[in-house]
Order: sequence, then structure tokens, then C-alpha cells
Amino acid sequence: MKDYYKTLGIEKTASQDEIKKAFRKLAHKYHPDKGGDEAKFKEVSEAYQVLSDEKKRSAYDRGGSDFSGQGFDTSGFGGFNAQGFGDIDLNDIFGDLFGGGRRRAEVRRGRDISVDMELAFEQAVFGVERTVLLTKASPCATCHGSGAKPGTSLKTCTTCKGQGQVSETRQSMFGTFTQARECSVCAGAGKIPEERCETCKGHGVVRRAGDVTIRIPAGIEHGEMVRLTGAGEAVQNGTSGDLYVKIRVTPHKVFRREGQNLTMNLQVKLSDALLGGEYGIETLDGKISVKIPRGVSSGEVLRVKGKGVPIDEKHRGDLFITVIVKIPAKLSRKAEKLVAELRDEGV
Ligand SMILES: [Zn+2]
Ligand SMILES: [Zn+2]
Repeated sequence: MKDYYKTLGIEKTASQDEIKKAFRKLAHKYHPDKGGDEAKFKEVSEAYQVLSDEKKRSAYDRGGSDFSGQGFDTSGFGGFNAQGFGDIDLNDIFGDLFGGGRRRAEVRRGRDISVDMELAFEQAVFGVERTVLLTKASPCATCHGSGAKPGTSLKTCTTCKGQGQVSETRQSMFGTFTQARECSVCAGAGKIPEERCETCKGHGVVRRAGDVTIRIPAGIEHGEMVRLTGAGEAVQNGTSGDLYVKIRVTPHKVFRREGQNLTMNLQVKLSDALLGGEYGIETLDGKISVKIPRGVSSGEVLRVKGKGVPIDEKHRGDLFITVIVKIPAKLSRKAEKLVAELRDEGV
């Protein structure tokens, strides 16, 4: 069983005041929002939640209850587990952590966009540049995102008095506390236009359709995702989201991918398998000639170096050709005679 007293660094006889004091000190020290150790913060929170509740504390002192693993939520102020805090005013404990605009500034970020893209097999192998038409929130071209009518300036937001955030007092079962929220009037900028831009009505962003050029790298595979940083939705006074392009690759009639290599089957005549020969093959990038070695067996794999998927500027994977020896279903009378002679030869 965990020693909650030790966790908080207090005596077993500690008063509620001492418990509260100890917790306040450690919570400040370990709070994740202040760059502290989250695991430690969880531990001291758990200890506090038990020891600050006289009922739980006496149960714990008797050794009767194990309070660990109850899923204490320390993900944020609002997410605190309600149990155990009683009527203690958390604002008293966390006031200077969360109030007064000293909260860690969060950067506004536009939404991500996701699109599917179907590529021909060759395009996936060699890479391709594709343009897609997207309708999304983009920075306003008239005011360049400021929201102000060109020629006019910005003034301090009266709602937040230029702070970019407003304090909100809330009642909860922990007591009263104050939380800073982004100012909805200026979207956190602290400034608003004296006169609004007519194009975007002061929002700084407008929804519009536009072409986005996407460079697909060579060697991309079916199911892979290409991310274009900043090509998602724009947002006023913040950074744009990202654009995710999910790649689908149409299968090829002849070739298949195996990582950096390509594979294919090649039907070879029985006579060529026996005597050897040369086959012309139409690859993804030009015709090549492949030597069929004498006596090749069905299922044997021939390797053509450098005819696979590009790895970098200089290197490419290989092409692997599986030989399929075609056994004729029908023989002419002459062929049958010749094959019978072959049999006599022990072939
Ligand atoms: Zn505008
Ligand atoms: Zn404001």
C-alpha cells in the first residue's frame, strides 16, 4: 500500500491545514502545465484526495482501503476527479497557476483537412505532381489576415482590454474558481479592426476554392499518407492546420510492388525454356530485353537490376521476373511426333 503521508512529506498526525499546505507546495512543483513531473503530480494528487477527506483518511489509516488505481484524472484543471476535494477552494490552491492570464499560451490552429487521392501504379512508383481543388478557410487576400479594411488600423479589443483572454468565474463542486478563456471577440489577438475588411467581414479568413499542388514522392505505397504542413484550414490569429492526402494506388495489370522491387510473371514457351531465348518486356519506363537461360524451370526468378522503384536520385530497386513455362494444351501432329522422340531421348 502506498504511503500517502510520505508522498506529501507530512506526519501521520498532520492537520488538514498542513495537508493542504504540503499539497499546494508539491502541486506547484510538479504541475505538468508548469513543466513538472506528471507522474509525481498524479501521486501527490492521489495522496491529497484521500488524506483531505476525513472519511477516506481514517479508512486509509486503518489500512482497510486501497485508493490507488481509481483513475484520478490530472489531465487538466477542468478534468479533476471530483471525489475527495470536499469544500476546499481550489482557486486558493491553483489560483496563480491558472488565473490572471499567466496560463500557458495556446497557439490557435486551423483544422486539418484530409483528402483521398487515387494514383496510377506508375505515378506511385515514379512520383507525380498533382493539383487538387480544395475549398477551405484561407487567409483573406484583401486584408492579409488582419481583418482590418485596407488603410485603417487596429485598435485594442474592448472586451478583453487587449489581453486576448477573458477570465471566467465558475462554480463547481470544488468551490469557485477562475479560468482564463480566449476572447471570442478578437480571437485572442487583443486587437480588433477599427473598420472591418469588407471581404472577410473582419474574420481575417475566407472560405474559398483554390488549387493546391501536391508533390507525391516516388515510391509511395497504397495506404500511405502525405502531409502538407500548413495546407489545411487557416484560422485568424493562428497557424493553419495541415493537409493529409491518403494515397490509393490502382493495381497494375502486369506489375506488383514488393517494397522497392517490382515483380511480374512471364510466360515462356516450352521450347524457349529448353533451349533459351530472348524476350522483350515493356517495363514501366521503356522496353527491355530479357535473356531466358537455357533449361529454365517454371517458377524460377530472373532479376533485372535497377528496373524497380526509385530509392533516391541514383538508386532503384530491381525487377524480379517469375518464369512460367507454358505447357501447350494442344499439339500439332508434327509437334506430338517430335515430343514422342524427345521422350525416347529420355527428356
Ligand atoms: Zn479581409
Ligand atoms: Zn478581445
